[in-house]
Amino acid sequence: MRTDYCGQLGPADVGRAVAVCGWVARRREHGEHLAFVDLRDHTGVVQCVVDGAHDLRSEYVVRVTGLVRSRPEGTENPNLATGAIEIGDCRVEVLSPAEPPPFPLDERGEVDEVLRLRHRYLDLRTDRMQRNLRIRARVNSALRRAMERQGFVEIETPMLIASTPEGARDFVVPSRLSPGHFYALPQSPQLFKQLCMVGGVDRYYQIARCLRDEDLRADRQFEFMQLDAEASFVSQEEVLEFISEAVSDAVEAVTGTRPAPFPRITWREAMERFGSDKPDVRFGMELIELTEIFAGTAFNAFRADCVKGIRVEGGASRTRKQLDELTEQAKRWGAKGLAWMKVEDDRSLTSPVAKFLSEAELHALVERFGPSPGDLLLLVADERATVRHVLGLLRLELGRPPVDEGGLNFLWVVDFPLFEGLDDNGRPIPAHHPFTMPHPDDLALLDEGDPARLLAVRSQAYDLVLNGWELGSGSVRIHRADVQRTVFSLLGIDDAEASRRFGFLLDAFRFGAPPHAGFAFGIDRLVALLAGEENIREVIAFPKTQSGADPLTGAPSAIDPAQLEELGLRLLPRKVT
Ligand code: ASP
Repeated sequence: MRTDYCGQLGPADVGRAVAVCGWVARRREHGEHLAFVDLRDHTGVVQCVVDGAHDLRSEYVVRVTGLVRSRPEGTENPNLATGAIEIGDCRVEVLSPAEPPPFPLDERGEVDEVLRLRHRYLDLRTDRMQRNLRIRARVNSALRRAMERQGFVEIETPMLIASTPEGARDFVVPSRLSPGHFYALPQSPQLFKQLCMVGGVDRYYQIARCLRDEDLRADRQFEFMQLDAEASFVSQEEVLEFISEAVSDAVEAVTGTRPAPFPRITWREAMERFGSDKPDVRFGMELIELTEIFAGTAFNAFRADCVKGIRVEGGASRTRKQLDELTEQAKRWGAKGLAWMKVEDDRSLTSPVAKFLSEAELHALVERFGPSPGDLLLLVADERATVRHVLGLLRLELGRPPVDEGGLNFLWVVDFPLFEGLDDNGRPIPAHHPFTMPHPDDLALLDEGDPARLLAVRSQAYDLVLNGWELGSGSVRIHRADVQRTVFSLLGIDDAEASRRFGFLLDAFRFGAPPHAGFAFGIDRLVALLAGEENIREVIAFPKTQSGADPLTGAPSAIDPAQLEELGLRLLPRKVT
């Protein structure tokens, strides 16, 4: 039907007879008999000069044939890729008329998102969505090529399964053939990829759909895509290399530039310096350790397990009201309070708490921070975990650049702890799924079973972080039944429960399990950051809204009584909340 794409015509085509197809983006009358019609396809728009008698309205689908010519001098549009030319002598064929669109496609920012998602097919016509979908396709294709080059085999795993333990809530599907029984949708292919290793696959990968029933956020949807990988007879080091290679290829495919090798940081260092296990290292403002300065302080509020602070460059211009708001914010995040200090021209500190501090303490603070006049110092004193948490959040709040600034800062965070804390019964809470191999040097601590010491056990687990977003995680797996039994029992999973929930995996391990390790990362998140988008919805063709609804199809929706009957289900009356 066409000889060219709209957005690709240029001065070199002047004099050519062309045929283009697309949607009417805009129409402007030109004198008495002519009209300018901007025709749009996925490559851009081109101006067609048509007979004014044609009934061509926004979003009509048309085919235009005509002659490419230079625009008359002075009427070129330098803001448009095709702005030097136009198509004249046009013959126009309407392929499909269109109703007026419910929102203007070129002003999508102003439009209510639910309305946009209800008509997502219109939204998809915009430059922004076309660009994002194509970036996504390029990422997928580069990832596949990189994994295959490294010897990985793509294997599909089932969607209707028993629960996989990733720590989220399962989506469940009732079984018609076994009433009262349910499938779970996979939170990840975790157990299947491990079975593939027992099955001798050696290197597995999949661009896998994962489903987790969690509250939605800017970087979270119920269903999301992961590059999921697992390999046998490899070390943690090799896994980091496989994944770095694939991610670097994807970045290069989109940006044209290969990122520098990804730096590494231990979990502990990340927590101490950035107050986060997914540090955004596009900016500094690191957490400064001050505990020992106040070891013998007379100021009660600073006599704490830990004192740390951050320096906000030029922050002293904040008003008292703004500082009070920051303090309230810090309290909502769990701090008892927030001490602020303004750095004066002579580098002395002005602060409501200054009068409680000794000269030596004030002097040591200035030494430690090395601030400039006009800076603001923010200090928190509390349990170490609280200090890191609150200052980590304040750091982001006060320093984080917009999503499309500061380049791509990948970071491997390694040596995660095996347990992230103790629950109310004093039982350790796993930081990853329960198949994560403890650090070999810490195995003895595990056997001791002392809860406080358990928290010091490191695991062979690692995360990939990009600009403060957790892209993904992985670990060396437990392939030894004895270690697995110890970890399960620490987590309060007894033999009966272990065999009920993961029996099939444990059985498989009895028949010869190779040492294995793997990783998975979120493709939606990677694509969003490559596209400079704040929200992964912008890089998903058909996403759900924040409340988990799909305004386009109406999901989730009620089902027929007959369907319920067939599934052996009866609905309870809705709880009034
Ligand atoms: N299955 C894990 C996840 O989805 C990743 C892994 O350990 O390979 O987070």
